[in-house]
Amino acid sequence: MTTKSAAAAARATVYGYPRQGRNRELKKAVEGYWKGRVTAEALRATAAELRRTNWLQLADAGINEVPTGDFSYYDHVLDTTVMVGAIPERHRAAVAGDALDGYFAMARGTQEVAPLEMTKWFDTNYHYLVPELGPDSAFTADSAKQVGELKEALALGLTARPVLVGPVTYLLLAKPAPGMPADFEPLTLLDRLLPVYAEVLADLRAAGAEWVQLDEPALVQDRTPAELNAAERAYRDLGGLADRPKLLVASYFDRLGEALPMLAKAPVDGLALDFTGAAAANLDALASAGGLPGKRLVAGVVNGRNVWVNDLAASLSTLGTLLGLADRVDVSASCSLLHVPLDTAAERDIEPQVLRWLAFARQKSAEVVTLARGLARGTDAIAADLAANRADLASRADSPVTHDPAVRARASAVAETDGRRSPSYAERAAAQRAHLGLPLLPTTTIGSFPQTGDLRAARADLRAGRIDTADYEERIKAEIQEVISFQEKTGIDVLVHGEPERNDMVQYFAERLTGYLATQHGWVQSYGTRYVRPPILAGDISRPEPMTVRWTSYAQSLTEKPVKGMLTGPVTMLAWSFVRDDQPLADTAHQVALALRDEVHDLEAAGTSVIQVDEPALRETLPLRSADRAGYLDWATEAFRLTTSGVRPDTQIHTHMCYAEFGDIVQAIDDLDADVISLEAARSRMQVAHELAAHGYPREAGPGVWDIHSPRVPSTDEAAELLRTGLKAIPAERLWVNPDCGLKTRAWPETRASLEHLVTAARTIRDEL
Ligand code: GLN
Ligand code: ZN
Repeated sequence: MTTKSAAAAARATVYGYPRQGRNRELKKAVEGYWKGRVTAEALRATAAELRRTNWLQLADAGINEVPTGDFSYYDHVLDTTVMVGAIPERHRAAVAGDALDGYFAMARGTQEVAPLEMTKWFDTNYHYLVPELGPDSAFTADSAKQVGELKEALALGLTARPVLVGPVTYLLLAKPAPGMPADFEPLTLLDRLLPVYAEVLADLRAAGAEWVQLDEPALVQDRTPAELNAAERAYRDLGGLADRPKLLVASYFDRLGEALPMLAKAPVDGLALDFTGAAAANLDALASAGGLPGKRLVAGVVNGRNVWVNDLAASLSTLGTLLGLADRVDVSASCSLLHVPLDTAAERDIEPQVLRWLAFARQKSAEVVTLARGLARGTDAIAADLAANRADLASRADSPVTHDPAVRARASAVAETDGRRSPSYAERAAAQRAHLGLPLLPTTTIGSFPQTGDLRAARADLRAGRIDTADYEERIKAEIQEVISFQEKTGIDVLVHGEPERNDMVQYFAERLTGYLATQHGWVQSYGTRYVRPPILAGDISRPEPMTVRWTSYAQSLTEKPVKGMLTGPVTMLAWSFVRDDQPLADTAHQVALALRDEVHDLEAAGTSVIQVDEPALRETLPLRSADRAGYLDWATEAFRLTTSGVRPDTQIHTHMCYAEFGDIVQAIDDLDADVISLEAARSRMQVAHELAAHGYPREAGPGVWDIHSPRVPSTDEAAELLRTGLKAIPAERLWVNPDCGLKTRAWPETRASLEHLVTAARTIRDEL
């Protein structure tokens, strides 16, 4: 095929679309079903209507081939578990009783059985349910959902392509089922799984699928030769099937690396590749691999994970290069549009000019269509779109929102030493000991106290104008009084104000920093029926006035004990937002750090001796490819240090992270140079304490002794036992006593009891020393 005909055939497609509906109808229907207010039939009807609306919206926009099977009541990895019949033993009875209830039992658990574990989908904020497999796992094909949804789309007269999680990624995302050997590798089940995929593919073909997409994002991570071999075998097998649709193997979120030449040679009919961000390296790799002669290439040139308008001219140039490399080049977003909100048109509070810089799922689909048209018919065919796009990009580049000279001047004046604390840690520790006068094994909490329905109602009342700011603030003060008096009575050593004024640890700060935008309807699925509305970091960041000092000072005025100031760190402020793509993340983090540094300074000036800067997201934004990690950790730790280094030696800087696996970033944690770190540790029985010790971590640490993810109250003995385990790794002079994380999701009764037990346990152990 010549380049010219490859261009003329260019078509527009996407891999997936937001599931929730314009008004989060899916959330309402699913939650209604759980509460018994919506029947299964009504839920199914709502779901079918949402799918239909999405397909028609895509088709109206000019998408030539719509995805099917990407819809889910809860999670597409769980749907895959059902499709391959990998129902865990403990859920079989429920699934046999009623498929829908069994499905939700796997997702959420029931009184009797625990749900599947949930974890983040690659480096996104979407969570999937982790498949549980063991050496004896058997698979059986259940193609009903995939076939049914394909038929729905075909019945609308559309060209449709089913999208499935690929077999290699499915196994690589799985973990050993409870009770199975921890070193069991699910990928060893590949030969058992492939026949099931073959059956599903045959069913889809029989139902009218010309193409089927198999998503293999796991291949963009570092993979062992054995894993790559398994992938090669998988696609040799599936490609060799007689009765099969055409296969499109998709990858996204990063570059394919070693897997690219392998897949290029595999007997499949097409590859879908990401060409945005770090995945742009796919372009050169594809050329070096000799392109995809005889195959279809779907080019993900519209970023499916951010909210920014595409640079159409730049994308067209990438597409132009790709034309020489494949038989047929189609255009898509880089990944499913599940990761972005639905439609910018729903936003009324964002300035119209700024709104034009944004593209949500609906706008991104239109960009894909425009690019496919430009590729097929030449730039003249999209001249008006290109001109409008150029104007939008220029307005963004020139805007005072994105370019605040004062912020830029300050950022470039930062000296290397501004990000270094002095004196050394040892000297600081001595100064802090003298200044704070804390006992051995000091007790503290991570920041938030229960966010009661009352508090949320007060915030809703304020927003609706039912109460005024003064009323609201009285309400917050009353809460702080209660939190302080409880902590004093219980005998906690370093107190917190409880964060009652914060709706969310990122949003609260985003609302107070210049440069962030808030959306009204920018919902994105986090997991199941939980949707979040991430703030948009659009411009240069500055802090017009102190954000937290007032509440911390008020709390401090109520007690003689030290009250810890609480801030969200720069890396987390980026990780849980949509971040501008017009400058390096390092530069954006640097600006956020400077704004937070001012807050740290003001807290100290107001008499705060202990300041905690939370970085729970440090580990999760770690790049997927290890080659990119050092660069990331460099700027991430630098931003943290810039936030915290302006303080006196006797001001104690804390940080907090909540995840159990962090062996690969111990050095980075050390590089933060925080005086105290609190970590999640209760479930892993203090494993992190041992990892810190093995690294030679020299600072103070509080491995959590209360698992706050469950309403269970730990006994005094249990907490004491965990402390004894902790003491084997961390000496008493450096060990803190605290829960795993904040208490905002807990209720008061279990909070009271658990913290009392923690304090008693600390006292018991102090007596033993
Ligand atoms: N300070 C926050 C809180 O206590 C920390 C939350 C988090 O780590 N996710 O809620
Ligand atoms: Zn936490």
